[in-house]
Parts: sequence; C-alpha cells; structure tokens
Amino acid sequence: MPSVAQPPLSLSPWSAATTQERHACGAVNVRHKADAMNRTCSDAVRSAWQTDQHVPLTQMRGALTFVPGAAYVGALCAERVSNRVGYGKAQVSVTSEWRRGRTERHRPASLAQKAQLSTGRALRASAATMASGGKQEEIEYDVVILGAGIIGAATAYYLSRQVEGVDTPRVRVLVIEREAVACSSSGKAGGFLARTWGDGGDTQQLHRVSFALHEQLAAELQLTSYRKVNTLQAQPFRKGANASSWLSGDACRSSLMDDTTNTAQVTPFELTARLMQEAQAAGVELVHETACGFELHRPSGPHDEAGSRREVASVRTQSGKVFRCRKVLIAMGVWSTTVAAWLDAGAKGRAQLQLPLEGILSTSLVFERKQKVLDEPFAVFCGEDRNGCHLELYPRANGDLYVCGMGGSEILDIHRVVPGGDIEAPSRVRPSASRLDAAMNTLRAIAPGLVGEDGGPDIVQACIRPCAPDAKPLMGRLGRSNAFIATGHNCWGILWGPASGKAMAELLLTGKSATLDLSPFEPTRFMPQKLRRSRQNAATGEEVGEFW
Ligand SMILES: Cc1cc2nc3c(=O)[nH]c(=O)nc-3n(C[C@H](O)[C@H](O)[C@H](O)COP(=O)(O)OP(=O)(O)OC[C@H]3O[C@@H](n4cnc5c(N)ncnc54)[C@H](O)[C@@H]3O)c2cc1C
Repeated sequence: MPSVAQPPLSLSPWSAATTQERHACGAVNVRHKADAMNRTCSDAVRSAWQTDQHVPLTQMRGALTFVPGAAYVGALCAERVSNRVGYGKAQVSVTSEWRRGRTERHRPASLAQKAQLSTGRALRASAATMASGGKQEEIEYDVVILGAGIIGAATAYYLSRQVEGVDTPRVRVLVIEREAVACSSSGKAGGFLARTWGDGGDTQQLHRVSFALHEQLAAELQLTSYRKVNTLQAQPFRKGANASSWLSGDACRSSLMDDTTNTAQVTPFELTARLMQEAQAAGVELVHETACGFELHRPSGPHDEAGSRREVASVRTQSGKVFRCRKVLIAMGVWSTTVAAWLDAGAKGRAQLQLPLEGILSTSLVFERKQKVLDEPFAVFCGEDRNGCHLELYPRANGDLYVCGMGGSEILDIHRVVPGGDIEAPSRVRPSASRLDAAMNTLRAIAPGLVGEDGGPDIVQACIRPCAPDAKPLMGRLGRSNAFIATGHNCWGILWGPASGKAMAELLLTGKSATLDLSPFEPTRFMPQKLRRSRQNAATGEEVGEFW
C-alpha cells in the first residue's frame, strides 16, 4: 500500500452544523444534547468537537475506535473519512453521525471491533483512491445499489452472504447513498412486525417469510432492540378497563389484540445500520453521493442488430463521479420515481418507462426513556379519535416511546420529490405542526403519566413512505435491461425489508428468487401491455427490440 500523507481533520461543533446536517439526523427538537454528549463521548472526541481543533487522522482513529462509548460514532466517521479524504477534502463533520450514534444503544465491544475494521478499510480505500488519482471509472462493480434505506441495506447484506446452496462467484458491490444510512423512513419508522396481518393477497408471503427472517437477523446482528411484544387495541376517549397501567382508564379503554406469537418490534435505525455495517465488514463499499443519472450503452451480441436495447453502463453522481456497473438496483424509496427519466434519456420513440409511486408524508414523535414503558411493553393501536388521529404507540426496548398514526398524512404531488422539487432529498421533509398538536391532545388524555402537561416529545420528525397505486411493492428486473428496482413497500417496509433484500439478492445473483414469488410485484405492471410487448424472432424465440 503506498504511504499516504495524512491531512488534518477538523470536527465541526454542533453549532456550526448546517441545517441539512441537523435534519439528516432527524432531530428537530432535541433536548439534553450536552448531557448526552458528556455521557457517551470520549474526552478526546468531545474536546475536538467543542473546540473545532484539527486532529491528525491517527489520533482521531485512536480516539474514535478504542473508546467503547464512542465506538459507534467511530464506525460511522470512518466511512466519512474515506469519502472525504479520498477526494482531497479534509473536512469531517460528525454531527449527524454523532446524533445517530447517541439515539441507539449498541454493544460496545463488537462495535469497537467494527469501528476498527471500518477505519482500517477507510484508510485503505482512501489510499487506493489517491493512488489512482481519484478516478472511480477504473472499477466495474458487479452491482451498484442506489439508496441505503432498509431495502438497499438488506440487499447489500444478503449479496455479501451469497445465495445458500448456489455456487456463485463473490460479487463486488457498491452502495450509493445521498445523505446517511437510514436517514429517511427506514430510520424513522415504527418498526412494528406482524406475521399474520395483511390482506391475505400477494403480500402475505412477505409477512410470513420476513417475520421469520427478522428473528434470525436479530441473532445474527446481535440487535438490542428486537423483541416479541403483545399488541393492544385501544379506544381513546372511551372509559373502560385497560390492559396497561400507562393508559388512563378515564380516557381510554384497551384490550389484547394479538400476542407474541404474531407480533414483534425492532428499532428500524438499528436494524438498517447493522445490516449495512455487516455488509461493509464483508466487503461491500458505501459512498455518500447523490446519484443523478445513468450512462446507457448498447450491449454487444444479437440484440445489437435490433439496435434499440440499451443497458446501464454506469451511474453518474451530482459531484461528477462515474461508477461503472454490470447491474444496478434502484432502492431510493419514493425518490426511485426519478429513475424513469434517467432510463429514457435520449430514447426517441421508445416506450416510456412508468414507475408510478405515491409518497405519503407522515410525522412521528419519540419520547425518550420512560420507565413505565420499560416495565410494561405493549404495542398499542388506537381507533380514530376526535382529534383525527389513529395513534400507534410503540414502546421500545431502551425505554423510548415512539408514536405515529397522527392522521392527516399528506399524499405528495410526486413532482415535489424530483430534482428541483421542494422535497428532492430526505432532509427536506418537514413535520406537520398541526398533526403534532392533534397527537399531543390525544396523548395527554390517554397516557397522562407518560406525557405530562408540559412535557413535549424529544424528537419530532417526518418521513415519506413510498407506495404504488395497488399498494404492492415494485420488485424485479426492468424489462430485459440490467436495471432492477425494489421500492413501494408502503407501511410495511421494515417488516418486508429482509425478505425483499434476500429475494433481490437472489435475483441479482442467479436470475430468480427462491425466497419469494416476485411475479405479483413485476415493476413494469403499470405500463400498457402493448408498450411492454417486444418483438420476437420466431426462429430463435429470442426477444428483440425495446428493452422494457
Ligand atoms: C411514520 C411511518 C411509520 C412506519 N412504521 C412502520 C412499521 O412499524 N413497520 C413497517 O414494517 N414499516 C413501517 N413504515 C414503512 C417503512 O418505513 C418504509 O416502507 C421503508 O422504510 C421504506 O424503505 P426504503 O429503503 O424503500 O426507502 P427509504 O428508507 O426512503 O430509503 C431510500 C434511501 O435512498 C436514498 N436516496 C434517495 N435519492 C437518492 C439518490 N439520488 N442517490 C442516492 N441515494 C438516494 C435516501 O437518502 C434514502 O436513504 C413506516 C413508515 C412511516 C412513514
């Protein structure tokens, strides 16, 4: 490995963080910042943070890697170090990563090891990039995944583990993430998991298969937040008996709705981040870049004569980088809708790809560390109340209480999420003040012991869940191209994520999925049949012509 001169690194204090960085960590209303910093950060990191001093890379590596309390921050920072140092910028901002690290409790020992691994890899990566003059084009990735939400992270994880029983060569995988791992709905969802819920239709297999995979992953990834829970149904503003002492009998009645054989929970941020960390530990690369287009080419071979079949040769990013790929997986949540234009770019008279997605914008709240929640864990589903809410309450294993279902979710005009729109990135999503007021009115009545008269939530956040017109995910290959998509998981993306990631990994590696029947989720199902049908060579049976 060539020796690399180590540029000075500077850690920005919270006060100097940009609004975008603060929003990337999902915190609009954060209390006790200083206390939390004192609790969880090493002296070296804290003093660097507070004084904005320059820290040599070696010292920073030591400080972040070997102090257990800061280990998680170290793992995430290492990722940023590789990205930024690699391109000659010596500025490392730990604000959003640090906040993320604080919100989850991880096992220090294993994370310290991972931080060390990540840091080592980051140093090697930056050295390699510098040695090659910063060119990414030389490498051709087998799979480039766009988006590090639950779907992108789960696919990366299962790709890194290969397909059981099938002898496939090891693949080189790159994940391109615009802001941060799990910065969108995959870090801000409830994380409720239900085995037998659903409408009994095509998506039922996702409930069944993925519920089992969650239990398996919880052990593999040593998740601290996964647990089986009983689930209650509640009627706000109706007097009656309650199955939990933290619901008020004067303003709420509740009863058991489902039990631990069928319902469980996980904290989505922990799951997504751990999937990504394990994938990285197994060699998957991650860069923080905004994908903004594809370079298309005509593959050689029989299709060339027909002249119109084109494939994705590389992914372009906003900073001007180009990542060559054999296959690309689009897993950008609601932002995946943008990709139809990238694939159609410059194709005159060709059937236009249609990826109709709705974005449903919802606000959610977190109340940190409630002892009663620790003592009596239940997931609670409330009926619609006089404030227009149908609250869902998810007490978590660390004592936090997560609340969503605040009603009035906004169905977005999809033009708002495309480039130039006011929500073109996850950090632009804003919570609704009126839904916050409505939810607080209900919460103060039904759970007064948890949410006092003056007590506000510690975190108010919002995110968008992606939904197709028929409420089924879009998963599969886009026609006969080398582009694949997995999105549209609506309100079940955390539950369905592991099965979806495993199925997509199998499809990418072997051409078919053994885990799921993907046919109901065909991503081009919304295109008129005529446009989808390609010409066929009657003699060979080979399809030629349009690539959708
Ligand atoms: C309030 C709420 C509560 C929920 N509760 C639950 C629940 O209890 N259980 C459950 O199963 N599901 C739940 N869900 C649903 C679940 O959160 C989503 O279905 C799931 O997170 C979608 O994951 P994703 O990976 O498809 O998208 P996302 O999480 O949105 O990830 C997409 C990623 O792509 C990145 N990206 C976007 N554009 C680009 C670009 N140009 N270049 C590179 N990267 C890009 C983004 O930054 C983002 O990180 C809930 C959703 C909401 C809104």
